[in-house]
Amino acid sequence: MNRDDAKKRVLESTDLVRLVSEHVVLKPRGREFIGVCPFHDDKNPSMYVVPHKQFYHCFSCGASGDAFSFVMGYHKMTFPEALKYLADRAGIELPRNTREQSSDEPTERQRIAAANQFAVEFFKRTLADERLGGPARRYITQRGISDEMVETFALGAAPDAWDALAQYVNRKQMDRQAFEWAGLIAPRKTGDGHFDKMRHRLMFPIFDAIGRPVAFGGRVLPEASTREEKSDAKYLNSPETALFNKSATLFGLHAAHKPISDSHTAVIVEGYTDVIAAHQAGARNVVATLGTALTAEHAAVLRRYADQVVLIFDADEAGQKAADRALQIFFNQPIDVKIAVLPDGCDPADLLARPDGLEQWQTAIVQAADAMTFQFRRVRQQFDAADTLAAKQRISEQYLRTLIDLGLDRIETARRGLVLARVAEMLRLDSASIDRLIRQLSGRRRATGPVHDEVEPDFDAPPSRPTAAQQAQRHLVGCLLTEPTLFHETVADGRELNESIGHDDFDHPPTAALYGAIYEWLIEHDQLTTADLRNLLHDENQVRYALQLQIEVSRLTDGSTAGLHELLTASATALAGRRAEQEYQQQKMLLRETKQEQPNNPGTTGTPPGTDSADDTETQRLALAIAHAQANPSARRVPRVSG
Ligand SMILES: [Zn+2]
Repeated sequence: MNRDDAKKRVLESTDLVRLVSEHVVLKPRGREFIGVCPFHDDKNPSMYVVPHKQFYHCFSCGASGDAFSFVMGYHKMTFPEALKYLADRAGIELPRNTREQSSDEPTERQRIAAANQFAVEFFKRTLADERLGGPARRYITQRGISDEMVETFALGAAPDAWDALAQYVNRKQMDRQAFEWAGLIAPRKTGDGHFDKMRHRLMFPIFDAIGRPVAFGGRVLPEASTREEKSDAKYLNSPETALFNKSATLFGLHAAHKPISDSHTAVIVEGYTDVIAAHQAGARNVVATLGTALTAEHAAVLRRYADQVVLIFDADEAGQKAADRALQIFFNQPIDVKIAVLPDGCDPADLLARPDGLEQWQTAIVQAADAMTFQFRRVRQQFDAADTLAAKQRISEQYLRTLIDLGLDRIETARRGLVLARVAEMLRLDSASIDRLIRQLSGRRRATGPVHDEVEPDFDAPPSRPTAAQQAQRHLVGCLLTEPTLFHETVADGRELNESIGHDDFDHPPTAALYGAIYEWLIEHDQLTTADLRNLLHDENQVRYALQLQIEVSRLTDGSTAGLHELLTASATALAGRRAEQEYQQQKMLLRETKQEQPNNPGTTGTPPGTDSADDTETQRLALAIAHAQANPSARRVPRVSG
């Protein structure tokens, strides 16, 4: 099996709808599926997956492609990585040479990933070591972490030594630079050599959604002989690298993404051991941020899998702070952020260790209040506690101002209505009065300096409209990609399409390049699979463009053969008409030039070039008419040359 066969087999064995729905929630719409696009900040689902063509297209950002483009874009993989990933997924064994065909130097990301992968194994071996792993194993037992969870989360131990890993890297002549980038080792401040950054810690590898280790968290263990003041922190995380963006990464996602998409709910806890305790108890849709609050970047990752995010807290006060913060970030985002406070001030691990822990946990999640309700409850308490009318009014105005600052004017109508109804109920006013009050307040707000009035670029605006001729070129190529036999279809001028249309009919650069790339193939073959296309086009952008054109055509023709013929004929006719027009104009220019070159032609005297003079001879007129008729056989009327 060579590389092309491998690509083909992998594509044939991959169901794109299933692949995409492992990463994005897809809903059927007609013959297609639609979901929130993971390649741009999608407010409404705008990505279509077309099952019968096995490709996807986003009508907002234009991202499109097949299974390869999807995983390359989504997981930021190179093509060989994507091939390996999809082959593994489909259970296809790739021949060695295919796997190693990438002759390119590994990127910084790949080198860091390799160093991290090695370190995962190194730390696991240390944990298993009878002597070196003792303290870490005792801690694991003490926390009640099961063997299965040690395995699932690939827990390990960093030895209680200054340079155990550094020496190993040196001895085996491994990629030391990569280990430095990964923040696993660092040059000694004095003298030669390197030292380990992670020492005497229980190691929690942090994986991305597909299980690549991108970083580590290390928890201190007791009785260390290698303690250093600075790194005394209870938890030490890897530094940010080309592979690791802390504010977009979630601990446990590799084990949780499937349960999250199944339940449409992501539950966020604060610590690594809380995640492990939850998974161990059977609540597997649980992840943790890495010691930070939930960011918009986290939400963008989670939105691919979930409709709602539940933040877990052990105290009401922490929940209040989180609610305020969550509202600031997510108020006008299409994701529900809810806050759950666990009973009795329990932390997740404590609660889940109880016999009825899982049940209580699930109840807390079901009863979680959305961040706005959570905030509203507090306002409501203050409102009810206020004893004068003036105080009550001040509290409600203050609350409305907060909502206006958050962007109340910009949230979707349904949600806005809900908010207003709630405030109206509290103030015992009708919604219309509240609406008026808000307009009053926001008017005043604008006058005193707006908070949220910056002009934002409209990302949803479509790119500049292509001209009619460009459209015709795109549609024609799109038709050919969809149904290659159309290349031999007879068109209006009585010739086969491939003779009727020439390379110079394509002046839209990307379309022209694409037509050039598939021309030879179309002459000789009557089918063109996506795998063939990948072999013909070596540029990923070009593949994407080709697939985009096919989707455009599929949508215009609704996949019907009759529609395809109609679109092809219309595009071919438009291009032929344009060519005829160009040739006609050219002839006219030529004739005029000839005329001007004749010095003794009295008719040209004093006539500026570029205007039609009245004394065109009948012969010239006839020549033009013939040229036009030849170029455009469907034209019935002989054009008049001079007005
Ligand atoms: Zn998109």
